[in-house]
Amino acid sequence: MSSIFSKIISKQIPADILYEDDLCMAFRDINPQAPTHFLVIPKKEIQSMADLTADDQAIVGQCLIVAAQVALEEGLANGYRLIANTLEDGGQEVPHLHFHILGGRKLNWPPG
Ligand code: 5GP
Repeated sequence: MSSIFSKIISKQIPADILYEDDLCMAFRDINPQAPTHFLVIPKKEIQSMADLTADDQAIVGQCLIVAAQVALEEGLANGYRLIANTLEDGGQEVPHLHFHILGGRKLNWPPG
């Protein structure tokens, strides 16, 4: 199922893109929940964590490495949180796998 993120990947709608390669893309969240809040997504249309297969190993690995690199570039050397909201109970709204990276303030635990 295509989502708004497919339109960001194809540049049909704009986003503040921080990083892009053949496998993934990082861009700022339009509704930031912390001083720094960006998303890392695979370019492949994968709906959620629940849809991952062993074939996606390289994609997910690259997404996490990009998340760590962009976090440092964004000045999050003191730490950050990486979250993948998954399906209904996880509070996932956009049905395209994405990793939230939040930082720039002390984050509470546990999340709601
Ligand atoms: P979810 O609740 O699915 O884990 O998070 C989806 C995230 O995508 C939300 O934080 C929301 O603000 C962000 N988002 C939704 N639509 C857009 C958009 O068009 N552009 C950008 N940059 N972020 C979006």
